[in-house]
Amino acid sequence: MHLTIDLTGRDVLVTGSEKSARQAVRRYQSSGANVYRLSTPEGVPGDGQLPERPFLVAVVDDGEAGWLPLVERCRDAGIPVAFEPAPGADGHVTLVGGGPGALDLLTVGAVDALRDADVVFYDRLAPYQELADLTSAELVDVGKQPGLHKVTQRDIEKLMVEAALLGKNVVRLKGGDPYVFGRGGEEVAACVAAGVPVRVISGVTSAISVPAAAGIPVTHREVSHMFTVVSGHAPLTEKEHTHLAGLGGTIVVLMGIGTLPQLAAGLRRAGMNSDMPMAVVERGYRPGQRTTIADLGTIETAATGCSNPAVLVIGEVVRVAEANRNHAEASAELSRLAASLLEA
Ligand code: SAH
Repeated sequence: MHLTIDLTGRDVLVTGSEKSARQAVRRYQSSGANVYRLSTPEGVPGDGQLPERPFLVAVVDDGEAGWLPLVERCRDAGIPVAFEPAPGADGHVTLVGGGPGALDLLTVGAVDALRDADVVFYDRLAPYQELADLTSAELVDVGKQPGLHKVTQRDIEKLMVEAALLGKNVVRLKGGDPYVFGRGGEEVAACVAAGVPVRVISGVTSAISVPAAAGIPVTHREVSHMFTVVSGHAPLTEKEHTHLAGLGGTIVVLMGIGTLPQLAAGLRRAGMNSDMPMAVVERGYRPGQRTTIADLGTIETAATGCSNPAVLVIGEVVRVAEANRNHAEASAELSRLAASLLEA
């Protein structure tokens, strides 16, 4: 069960050893509660003043059985008790795929890892605007914004490793999936080399979800039974254009705005028909999401105003989205017509 209670100004007693309770303390503090601490079951620490009747007692599982009498007393007195898990093993890194930017496309694993983090290093493509609602961890922007000072990949790895070696639960939040053009493999290798435990939580990749945001299925029965995901970071070779054009499936390109003219020309040279449908989906799941549909022959002109982040889709599946959209519009039109006939 997941309950949201307004704790602003409420007295919350958090029990458990310092090490185990640190995240729970931060969480309750950031929710506006007056936090009181009891770190051993034996009694009141130092000069700590405990509230007479707390609104809530948060019992952190620090492996100490001595808290049970307190739990019993709370039950007898009708004071609610929240049981809190202690943070996992000390000093580790979790690479988290943040999905394409929509909160509801974060995985449960991602939400849990963020909640338990001490520090989060995030990029600009991750759903960073809502981070403060998901975690009370320290938030560090290592996003590579064009024109601004950029934190290099090696520096990011160094920051993560150093924080983990200090004993922190580190989350590295990345856009989409960490292993799809995300340099996740390098970050895992850096942790392994430094002896820091590391795990990866897969995310919803933009390669599939951004086309979906525009109604484009990357595969469709009898239309396309394969899709290839390509990086457009650098222009492709002639051989790659030939292979791609020869596959006959859907082509999805990430980071492809800069090299769009070369790609379209290359695929045409490789024999792909100029009337092959093509879509550019910009800012999927974000304000200003926009879809531009053209074909291989006209896309360069149609997409002149398009900018990153965007996903390109080349293939007959683009027509499926159009057909579905037309169908939806036609049904809406029919309903309107029926309604007006009924009124008349
Ligand atoms: N690991 C990421 C991809 C990183 S490469 C993933 O799995 O999605 C960065 C590219 O991803 C961008 O240039 C763009 O092509 C694409 N992208 C990521 N999020 C996007 C979004 N919300 N809308 C459109 N494109 C997006």
